[in-house]
Amino acid sequence: MSNFADLLIRWQQQHGRHNLPWQGTQNPYLIWVAEIMLQQTQVKTVIPFYQRFIETFPTIAVLAKADLDDVLALWSGLGYYTRGRNLHKAACVIVDQYQGKFPTHSSEIQKLPGIGRTTAAAIAAFCYGEACTILDGNVKRVLARYFGIDGYSGLAATQQQLWGIAEAVLPQSNAQKNMPIYTQALMDLGAMICTRTFPRCTACPLQSHCVALLENRVASLPTPKPSKVLPSKEAVFLLLQHHNKLLLEKRVNQGIWKELWCLPETTKNYHYQSYCTQMLGIDAVCVDSLLPPIDHTFTHFKLKMYTQRLQVKSIVQQPQCNPIRWVTTDEAFRLAIPTAIKKILSKYRAESLPITL
Ligand code: SF4
Repeated sequence: MSNFADLLIRWQQQHGRHNLPWQGTQNPYLIWVAEIMLQQTQVKTVIPFYQRFIETFPTIAVLAKADLDDVLALWSGLGYYTRGRNLHKAACVIVDQYQGKFPTHSSEIQKLPGIGRTTAAAIAAFCYGEACTILDGNVKRVLARYFGIDGYSGLAATQQQLWGIAEAVLPQSNAQKNMPIYTQALMDLGAMICTRTFPRCTACPLQSHCVALLENRVASLPTPKPSKVLPSKEAVFLLLQHHNKLLLEKRVNQGIWKELWCLPETTKNYHYQSYCTQMLGIDAVCVDSLLPPIDHTFTHFKLKMYTQRLQVKSIVQQPQCNPIRWVTTDEAFRLAIPTAIKKILSKYRAESLPITL
């Protein structure tokens, strides 16, 4: 088993990545931010976001003191905003409960908001040389292929089997020195060699004992997720215009867009003018009929986004529900707004849709 780790360590030293912005440090804050951003997002997308984030919030203390709005504005475009919210929340916990010092053991790191077993293990391995394993999508794929493991990795039994293997193949000696290299090796191999669609087996350090390669099962492993048709939903977003500014409201309720600035949302066939009066305290008239829908796909559903343009006649009273603000489209893009809303505003801006009253 340890041969697996030895081969990977040797390969990483010669062929792995060594110049990513979050490498060459044992500062847990710098590594933590990177690990959170890298969840669901590719390295090349993360790099500019990471650099801006660290420049603006260089320490845990600065992040904890920051306004959540400013944190989410820098997150805008990365998606999965819960990650940004949890990063801010965890920084506050570290300041309040750990005297500003990042915890030093994976079991303690895992108690922080937004940090799961794999992220805690990556931080502990990189910063403290702790012998604990990561098991993200890339690592699951490498292990499933190398050991010929069948079964969708989202199933509890397969997951448990993979955790067991991942722990059994950890480096056997000198964890302090080897764990950071080994952990990086697992990440690098999954990202550079044993990729999902075109694995480069001829360049792989594991090729001589890889079950998938030896049994000609590379294309069928890991076992794919049983396919499921995503449900579809529809929503209508209100584009309220007043003196060349648009209305945005902040979602304060729970949900995927919590704390983000959005266009007011309602449903099809609602009387939009009544909605504006009752919910937003605004007297407005529809400029035209609904604009053709724009599609957006989330992890769990597809959304057909219709847009209704309205011209504001007068602002009658303060809105009952969410905080609002009036912004130009340029200002809107500098705020924390969801990618789906950006799509609508981009189309609106690109087509310079006129108000034709
Ligand atoms: Fe992946 Fe091919 Fe290496 Fe096996 S030999 S671990 S399938 S890249």
